[in-house]
Amino acid sequence: MNIHEYQAKEVLRGFGVATGKGHAAFSVDEAVKAAEQMPGPVWVVKAQIHAGGRGKGGGVKVVKSVADVKAEATRMLGMTLVTHQTGPEGKTVQRLYIEEGTAIARELYLSILVDRETSKVAFIASTEGGMNIEEVAHATPEKIITVQVDPAAGYSGYVGRRIASALKLEGDLTKQCVKMIGQLYKAFVEKDMSLLEINPLVVTNDNKLICLDAKINFDSNALERHPEIKELRDLSEEDPKEIEASKYDLSYVALDGSIGCMVNGAGLAMATMDIIKLYGAEPANFLDVGGGASKEKVAAAFKIITADPRVKGILVNIFGGIMKCDVIAEGVIAAVKEVGLSVPLVVRLEGTNVDLGKKIIRDSGLNVIPADDLNDAAAKIVKAVKEAA
Ligand code: GDP
Ligand code: MN
Repeated sequence: MNIHEYQAKEVLRGFGVATGKGHAAFSVDEAVKAAEQMPGPVWVVKAQIHAGGRGKGGGVKVVKSVADVKAEATRMLGMTLVTHQTGPEGKTVQRLYIEEGTAIARELYLSILVDRETSKVAFIASTEGGMNIEEVAHATPEKIITVQVDPAAGYSGYVGRRIASALKLEGDLTKQCVKMIGQLYKAFVEKDMSLLEINPLVVTNDNKLICLDAKINFDSNALERHPEIKELRDLSEEDPKEIEASKYDLSYVALDGSIGCMVNGAGLAMATMDIIKLYGAEPANFLDVGGGASKEKVAAAFKIITADPRVKGILVNIFGGIMKCDVIAEGVIAAVKEVGLSVPLVVRLEGTNVDLGKKIIRDSGLNVIPADDLNDAAAKIVKAVKEAA
């Protein structure tokens, strides 16, 4: 689960981390009030969307009067902000964050993540912070350093000192850095974050180290432990299809392709996506209906797939172990009865109650293309979609 920058900074302040002062605003009036509570002479108006790259897209403006805060707030609220992370459709700006301006001497990069390769929490740091970190990583990867924390040894000040030295910080800034790294690590672990990115981490003209931007992603599986974090969820930032899927406890991820997939088991779902690609098409989603799904859950899943205008064909690929093929068949048919079916549908069923499942589909009168195995199924749906186009 992602949260907004202003929420992330609030979470970090709870651990003592140094950030600028600021207030969230949901309207132009609130933005003006927020600005008036700060002395100036510089304010920053920041669009709050769950995507980075706002600066380049016109979503971060440094201004020098309350009148300009008002002008920028008026411009930004309701605008569609397109950045390299939003996709071409962009995101509607519904919230702003008004922060006191910072006089920046240096922009650094710092993030913490769970490194799956080493199973350790890792800090990533670079002197080249700011808006072009992706380019730095691509062109000069040697300017990005990684420091891992050994889970057995736990965190120690050594990690902070290594990062401070990599960031070329000296004197009191080293002290501030070591302190901040400890606070960030504590926040990361205690709140079950999977990603914490500070870009930029800045050195101010008066030699203070502060977080100027903050992006946090929490491990969704751990949210039950953090009701205060769960409350920060902003549903308007999430894909409506994914919200609908989460109501039914379906593992669903929307993608850009044209072939909707309904599969049981994450491994089989991945394999199905791979084989669709192998046959020259792209999957429209990842969907694992899980093991003991009910007819209602299967129907909900099917409806989510058919509601996606990108979907030009559907592949149902079920290997019934715990999941029963007849339940899948009934769920699909119930959904089609309700919402209709305007695209080709290939069904490959195998496993528990397979004969019954196939019979239910045959007897339904639905225009289903049966398939025998994974290869056959992928080839048939890709062909059917091409022919229909
Ligand atoms: P992002 O583009 O979505 O990552 O948004 P950021 O919060 O990182 O802001 C983008 C850039 O705006 C930063 O890299 C800074 O260069 C600039 N910026 C943000 N806040 C301030 C500020 O208080 N003062 C100044 N001078 N620049 C700022
Ligand atoms: Mn940033």
